[in-house]
Amino acid sequence: MKGIQEFPKHYCGVFGVFDHPNAAEIAYYGLYALQHRGQESAGIVTADGSTFHSHREMGLVPQVFKGNALAELKGRNAIGHTRYSTTGASHVQNVQPLIVDCNRGKIAIAHNGNLTNAAILREELEAGGNIFQTTIDSEIILHLLARPNLTADSNPLLETIRRIQGAFSLVMLTEKEMIGVRDPHGFRPLSLGKLDGKWVLSSESCAFDLIQAEFVRDVRPGEIVIIDEKGMRSMDAFPDQKRRAFCIFEYVYFSRPDSKIAGVNVYDSRIQMGRQLAREHAIEADMVVPVPDSGNYAALGYSLESGIPYHMAFVRNHYVGRSFLQPSQTTRSLDVRVKLNLVSDLVKGKRVIIVDDSIVRGTTSQSRIKILKEAGAEAVHVLISCPPHKFSCVYGIDFPDRSKLLAANASPEEICQHLGADSIGYLSQEGMVKATNQPEEAFCMACYNGDYPVAYESNVDKEIIERRTVDSVSFGDLLDKEASQSKLI
Ligand code: AMP
Repeated sequence: MKGIQEFPKHYCGVFGVFDHPNAAEIAYYGLYALQHRGQESAGIVTADGSTFHSHREMGLVPQVFKGNALAELKGRNAIGHTRYSTTGASHVQNVQPLIVDCNRGKIAIAHNGNLTNAAILREELEAGGNIFQTTIDSEIILHLLARPNLTADSNPLLETIRRIQGAFSLVMLTEKEMIGVRDPHGFRPLSLGKLDGKWVLSSESCAFDLIQAEFVRDVRPGEIVIIDEKGMRSMDAFPDQKRRAFCIFEYVYFSRPDSKIAGVNVYDSRIQMGRQLAREHAIEADMVVPVPDSGNYAALGYSLESGIPYHMAFVRNHYVGRSFLQPSQTTRSLDVRVKLNLVSDLVKGKRVIIVDDSIVRGTTSQSRIKILKEAGAEAVHVLISCPPHKFSCVYGIDFPDRSKLLAANASPEEICQHLGADSIGYLSQEGMVKATNQPEEAFCMACYNGDYPVAYESNVDKEIIERRTVDSVSFGDLLDKEASQSKLI
């Protein structure tokens, strides 16, 4: 019988704090600030020497840590994780941080990103007799770490980090240390801060604001930071790797606007994207309306640059989760409606520009335009604060495969018609880069231009990376081969 094993992609939030009397509580608040990076599950592992405590469940951060959960997480060191993955792999067995008790002691890991050589490594490890407990690629890192030293001067951490490929921002806890690692391309963010003189690590700096920690700096691409009772040590694990590839979509959509990455406020970059959009697409209209919350800042930038008034015509119901994060297309489109309501009188007879950060499948824009037209808007122009998404992401952002990406299969004119808009305009790639105040070489823009900085296992489709087929063994059949000893009763 065939069985499917999935390597779910997971865009996530990771957090860590070392040697603090309120470690679990701080991790809890840190994860709260990183909730936007994953709403499927959350977990915290704490440690005080060799005793590890963990609490991991499906759900939002406050749902997961109810009652006494935090009080039971004893210890001065803590790491935490919020996660969203694709359906199918959405079960408690895959909730992070993962913990192992191995020949090197206890190790816990929280991972944001996607390993592009996961299937190969897992196959290799399984061929060597390793047994996996989960279907997530992060577990591979633990197996590699636990391998026996081949030579006296082996460094298992370095060897592991150099073996894995793709996107990985990691926070790990051992019995003595907290470790932060960022892949050599720096696909995903990871920041270093200080709270009451103690080190903290977080996917994004917005978590430091909440816990009132001081932002120290970004962990550099390829850097390993090791924090123990002596302090913090740092090492560049990939001195020859010069190509950087930070995910530009973190600025466009994914990171929180109150975070700072590579010295740039995400908020400011989004305002600049909107301003640039106005320079590239001048439209005569009566108002600029954001699709909340993802379009808020670019729409404001557009309004500031063009002088066209900004109106929050869509009112958001804050008690509904991100529409995109629902499992089926049916519930997703219902969610889109339940989440936003229109102030109809405001738009009646008006020429409206709506601004959103991106069009993926087109569900959101289509429903917005329909609602605006039904309310009597004279014209609806759609502006998107990044270029068309034509390629899927293999480095940890959840985009569907190309067959479901609207822009991979239709021209802007066809998209405009499909959405029922009067016009559509996307920000150019150059304009998007300019808004970040960094050079083009700093970024991964594979989802826009198909230029993948790190090769991935399949050149066909990322779904294949996430699924592989294994033959499930029949021990009975094997026994049958030993004819003399096996009989069917
Ligand atoms: P769609 O309705 O499929 O076109 O999705 C576009 C909407 O989903 C936009 O409003 C975006 O803000 C949001 N979005 C885009 N990419 C993602 C993602 N990877 N995860 C969650 N939401 C997203």
